[in-house]
Amino acid sequence: MWRVIREIGRERIDKLFRMAEQIFHENPELADRYVEIARKISMKARIRIPTKWRRRFCHKCYAFLVPGVNCHVRIRSRRSTHVVVTCHKCGNRMRYIIRKKE
Ligand SMILES: [Zn+2]
Repeated sequence: MWRVIREIGRERIDKLFRMAEQIFHENPELADRYVEIARKISMKARIRIPTKWRRRFCHKCYAFLVPGVNCHVRIRSRRSTHVVVTCHKCGNRMRYIIRKKE
């Protein structure tokens, strides 16, 4: 049963982020709301948000982020290559290590 819940949860999270991406230009607040719902599902079902989506929202104010619109992305190559995503809404900076596999 638990496995089924997690499977449904994963599908719903993926769907919510895809919906957020589609609706963002028309209604950014609704996109943020989808992020919130996705986070709630991930907490309840104890599943991690997939890496590709983890980078698409601010980990402080939970806004859905679109590079060049409400956040900017910088690549740093000192030591390990990483990207720095700055949220324009709250100014939070998030650092992600880039792995070659991704
Ligand atoms: Zn933010």
